[in-house]
Amino acid sequence: MEGFSLPDLSAVPTLTGLLVMLFAAAVALTVSQRTVQRDATERLPWWLAGTVALATGLWASGVLGVAHLAMAAGAEFDVTWSVVAGLATFVFAALGLHASLARQPSMGQRLAGVGLLGAATLAPTLSSLAAVGLQRSDLAQLSGLSLLGWMVASSSFGWGMAVAQRPNCSRRAQAAAAALIGAGVLAAQSLVLGAVPWPAPFDLADGDGIGSHTLATLASVGAGELLLLLALALAVEARLRGRLDRAQTELMAHALRDELTGLANRSAFDQRMSALQREVDAGRGKAAVLLVALDGFRQVNESYGHACGDALLLEVAQRLRTLVEADALARLGGDEFLLVLHGDAALQEATVLAAQVVATLSQPCHIDGRELATSGSVGVAGYPVHGPASELLTHAAVAMRTAKNAGGNTYAIFDPRMVIDQRDQAELLHDLRLALVRSQLELYYQPKVHAPSAQITGVEALLRWHHPQRGMISPVIFIPLAERSGLINKIGAWVIDEACRQARAWRDQGLRMRVAINLSAHQLRQRDLPQYIADALQRHQINPDLLTCEITESVAMEDTETTARFFAELAAVGVHISIDDFGSGYSSLSYLRKLPAGELKIDRSFVMDVAHSEEARKIAAAVVQLAQALKLKVVAEGVETEAQFNILRQLGCDELQGFLFAKPMSARALGLWAAGDDGTRAVQFSESLFQESRSLAL
Ligand code: C2E
Ligand code: MG
Ligand code: MG
Repeated sequence: MEGFSLPDLSAVPTLTGLLVMLFAAAVALTVSQRTVQRDATERLPWWLAGTVALATGLWASGVLGVAHLAMAAGAEFDVTWSVVAGLATFVFAALGLHASLARQPSMGQRLAGVGLLGAATLAPTLSSLAAVGLQRSDLAQLSGLSLLGWMVASSSFGWGMAVAQRPNCSRRAQAAAAALIGAGVLAAQSLVLGAVPWPAPFDLADGDGIGSHTLATLASVGAGELLLLLALALAVEARLRGRLDRAQTELMAHALRDELTGLANRSAFDQRMSALQREVDAGRGKAAVLLVALDGFRQVNESYGHACGDALLLEVAQRLRTLVEADALARLGGDEFLLVLHGDAALQEATVLAAQVVATLSQPCHIDGRELATSGSVGVAGYPVHGPASELLTHAAVAMRTAKNAGGNTYAIFDPRMVIDQRDQAELLHDLRLALVRSQLELYYQPKVHAPSAQITGVEALLRWHHPQRGMISPVIFIPLAERSGLINKIGAWVIDEACRQARAWRDQGLRMRVAINLSAHQLRQRDLPQYIADALQRHQINPDLLTCEITESVAMEDTETTARFFAELAAVGVHISIDDFGSGYSSLSYLRKLPAGELKIDRSFVMDVAHSEEARKIAAAVVQLAQALKLKVVAEGVETEAQFNILRQLGCDELQGFLFAKPMSARALGLWAAGDDGTRAVQFSESLFQESRSLAL
């Protein structure tokens, strides 16, 4: 059998080569997956890492196969060709991966990619065969099998990459893809090596280059180590990424949750609403939202601190949780909460729920041993009944504001007219800004009478707005508007000035009238107001003793620290302080005692009922006793009937005010009324009080 021998099967790549290649394919596929997931800017290092892994595996398995043959023939590797082997593998692998991992590669790119990877598979084998001195003519004989090998390698890369790049490719599928590539590469290299004539006519004799043994060791150990390092780096990266992903998930959850209450927040609510809208649009039920806002929450924060405000919000969230499922509840921010309902009768259910919300919020809260009287305003709007889903929240807010404007502690269902009302408010505000400049504001005056003698003791200045189109507008309408817009400070300053000017004018006419003005909550926060009042009194030469400042009880109780400081500064100016609408708020007696107030005005609601309600009478009597105990003067306002007048006088009220005596009127009308010229006076007017105050006038 001389002259003929079968290719030595031991010439096929060794087991080490197979292992290295499988390892390399697995690493390269993992890296390829990452490369595909990354943005263009982050791809370069991943692509390079993939190239290094794949080229190392291909080179090592190629070199090991050739080294095995060379060792048997005692041949060595030429250094230049060995370098060419490495470089060629790297370049083909780099280009092949680049084309295969392109974003949405075309068919041409795909084919070019796998073709280049096939070339990368055979490059180390063929270059290494040249490195060990296989004659060019012998190499040429391998071209047919090389072509077949190239096709086998290219197609195994094509399939393997396709499997590994599928979205959500499992580990098992990835291992199978790596095995497919590994087997393809080994098959391709074996085809070429198996066709090398044997015994091979290797040229490079011992001592000319790198020993086959050395190179084989380098290929197996070096490549193994390099791949191991890459795999370790990948594992570390995967761990870090896992942590990052978990942090990201947590951040996402955090971004959808309200920190304080743990409820869903605005973003989560928006997501929920989008899903709900799709349901409704698909004909599955209807949607309704309830926007809940606490009444007077700002005051709680200002009076008792933010910790107390937070505790109140937690309590409110807790109460709302008992009414609806957790996923139907969100906090919008501040004191606003949202409840969502879905179903065929969503709006009807929302109405029932709104009443329950109002009821539960009106139960007092106990926070830090303090009882807080709470209440809420609820706006209800439905989809699709009240318009597009994008407007749902706005509509609920409009309804909520309507409930608030109605005094709070109630709910309102959206009505398109409400939008018009609010537009109307914007228009009114615009007009109010001009009212001062155009002299449309006027002070009316309502007399206060001495209860035992029914003689006039002074007047209360009440603001009126003569609107050119709407006629006379009540302060009940425009003062809250002015407060919300910040206009109140300007208007308030004008009232102070005008009241002092009028007091001076009356004095100059011989009438020494004690005047009371009303101050709003916002004015109390105006630090220079006491000084402004002092300056106005000075400017008009009015004795401070002739001016009374009325501050409603609820305002006085809003921010006790500010009020106490403000009252002290006012008292220092020398003016009187009166607590208006007393009985409507929740005064703490100990606090009231500390305020330098001189007068309490019983709220009109008690006066109204005093003649026919035992309860109202008891409250009025209690207020009078309280005022007497605190050495405060008591004024009853809103006295309309003789019966009320008699009862209040018997209860011990010091002064009375109401339509029974006179309605608020212009300064001129009051002058005539006081002089008894208009014949409308129901009680006797006495000069004596003027005499009394004349001595006090400057
Ligand atoms: P207030 O200070 O409690 O004034 C008493 C209100 O009761 C006045 O309403 C007055 O016209 C009305 N009134 C007086 N007697 C009777 C009566 O016998 N029967 C009835 N039904 N009502 C009576 P008005 O003038 O509409 O003022 C309402 C509120 O507007 C005032 O309540 C006060 O809080 C506020 N206000 C008025 N003028 C000013 C002002 O210049 N500045 C500020 N900040 N608020 C003002
Ligand atoms: Mg008043
Ligand atoms: Mg009042």
